[in-house]
Amino acid sequence: MITKIMNSPVGQMISTWRMSEEGLRLGNQILQENDNLGEAIVRAVKCVEDDPAYVSVGYGGLPNREGQVELDAAYMDGDTLGTGAVISVKNLKNPIEAAYRLSKKNRSCILAGDGAMKYASYEGLAYQNMLTESSRKRYEEELKVSKQEEIRAYEGHDTVCVIGRSREGSMACGVSTSGLYMKEPGRVGDSPLIGSGFYADSEAGAAAATGMGEDIMKGCLSFSIVEKMRNGMNVQEACEKALREHWRRLERRGYPNNGMSVIAMDTQGNTGAATTLEEFPFVVAGENGCRLYVASMDQETGEHFLFVPDKEWIKNSKSD
Ligand code: ASP
Repeated sequence: MITKIMNSPVGQMISTWRMSEEGLRLGNQILQENDNLGEAIVRAVKCVEDDPAYVSVGYGGLPNREGQVELDAAYMDGDTLGTGAVISVKNLKNPIEAAYRLSKKNRSCILAGDGAMKYASYEGLAYQNMLTESSRKRYEEELKVSKQEEIRAYEGHDTVCVIGRSREGSMACGVSTSGLYMKEPGRVGDSPLIGSGFYADSEAGAAAATGMGEDIMKGCLSFSIVEKMRNGMNVQEACEKALREHWRRLERRGYPNNGMSVIAMDTQGNTGAATTLEEFPFVVAGENGCRLYVASMDQETGEHFLFVPDKEWIKNSKSD
């Protein structure tokens, strides 16, 4: 039994996938107690980065073709538009922490590879081997069957995206991912790219995306959602419309539906979510705690709706 909801939920934080539930609860606690938006978002993302059970973010993330876990993360402050990102970092325990610190800088705030690691070391951030035994085993299995010439999108590559709003109306967002499993070394997805994987502007709203990065970035999807809100569109409509328009744009060029999902929040704390998948779970938190929702697109009709999952759905869902 699913209960469709007509009005999208109101809250102070919204995040992608079920894997973010525990982190969002912790982040929301911080927000409720001391209204520290940066701390709340970083805490929420770190919780997912630290959990080896999630194979698409941080520790336990699945590796690239050469067996190395390469991570991307970004943070954007919607008051200052300050943005920090680290791209293709290896063995950095919490990429979001580095991205957050970089968002306070005016220059050299998006760093890749060795440069990002040098910065992390200078800042005293913790290193860790991010490849777990189970991810290594899975990689070795994959090597036996994988074709070397193409990027295979495996089911379940995801990004943890967290958007928040303080009581004063400051907005921000943070994202973190290990990107596509078996990606080419150095491959960059949408997640650490401003406007594609995330965007936050306290004057207009914030949005973030998850799904096949090569598709999402072709439409600067997060920025386009925020611009629709800036022009007065309701947050849920902005998510659905931006995603539908972009999806059609890709379809006309013959791209298959590899799955793209978005979350957003307007300047009043109204949230929205949309997907081209059959089911995309997201979490909303606020004064009254944390709650899981699901956005769904009927794969035949394209009809889009949100619902509150029941216990049965939660038990049976294989989604992250
Ligand atoms: N957007 C991520 C990437 O392409 C993956 C995902 O969110 O599914 O790296």
